[in-house]
Amino acid sequence: MDFDIRGKRALVCGASKGLGRGCAEALAGEGVHVTIVARHAQVLEATAQAIRQANADVTVQTVACDITTAAGRTLALAACPAPDILVTNAGGPPMGNFRDWSRDDWIAALDANMLTPIELIKATVDGMMARGFGRIVNITSSAVKAPIDILGLSNGARSGLTGFVAGLARTTVARNVTINNLLPGPFDTDRLASTMIAAAKVGATSLDAVRAARMASNPARRFGTPAEFGAFCAFICSAQAGYLTGQNILLDGGAYPGTF
Ligand code: NAD
Repeated sequence: MDFDIRGKRALVCGASKGLGRGCAEALAGEGVHVTIVARHAQVLEATAQAIRQANADVTVQTVACDITTAAGRTLALAACPAPDILVTNAGGPPMGNFRDWSRDDWIAALDANMLTPIELIKATVDGMMARGFGRIVNITSSAVKAPIDILGLSNGARSGLTGFVAGLARTTVARNVTINNLLPGPFDTDRLASTMIAAAKVGATSLDAVRAARMASNPARRFGTPAEFGAFCAFICSAQAGYLTGQNILLDGGAYPGTF
């Protein structure tokens, strides 16, 4: 299927590695010009080079910044002021026990995983509506649907974003601007590896043992890949997906056990 987004412009956050990179690669594969954002210039530039090599027909811009800061967002939006596609993403908040978290810990999580996507949407959605095309995808977490106790900061902050998006998405779709959330379960990325290293330490076991147990506990018996995630994101950004909005789409190999 031709997704009919060739020549569009995408701003993809948290895109030097992992799920964000998967989205940027898939969009570039559909002929979308991408501006990719991440904190570390060197890793980001290497990712950009790989995307350029695989897709000679698209431009790939890089912005090395912390997207959770106002200064970082200004830089990203200066490089890509009128995106047709926005993928919001940043690192997840730390794990822990809520008894140990201060107000500052909560504010940092809200800034990164709720207010940053909202600020980026605010800066771009009206232009999308005026142009009659827009696709906004927020990378959230399966923890929005099935909360994980040690990820309380993530559960809370991302649920705030989810509630906000549910209202906004209904006000933009008539102008062909959709807003959806993708909820990853376990995907094979550095982030997942870091949570497994922490789990191995706590359980006094090996990383290999934690990895094998996690895979075995998933109905698919494996982790998802960033390429699978990116392909789904590209479909949501397609011309054909204009009737899909305000949805929370779980990509987790069937780990969530409910019927709906
Ligand atoms: P990752 O660590 O592999 O990649 C994160 C990317 O975002 C990197 O490019 C990093 O440089 C960039 N980044 C992080 N913080 C940033 C910031 N403040 N400003 C700019 N760039 C920033 O992580 P991932 O596995 O791809 O996870 C992406 C998101 O999905 C995270 O919020 C994570 O919590 C969430 N998530 C991941 C999984 C999983 O299994 N991988 C599951 C549930 C939720």
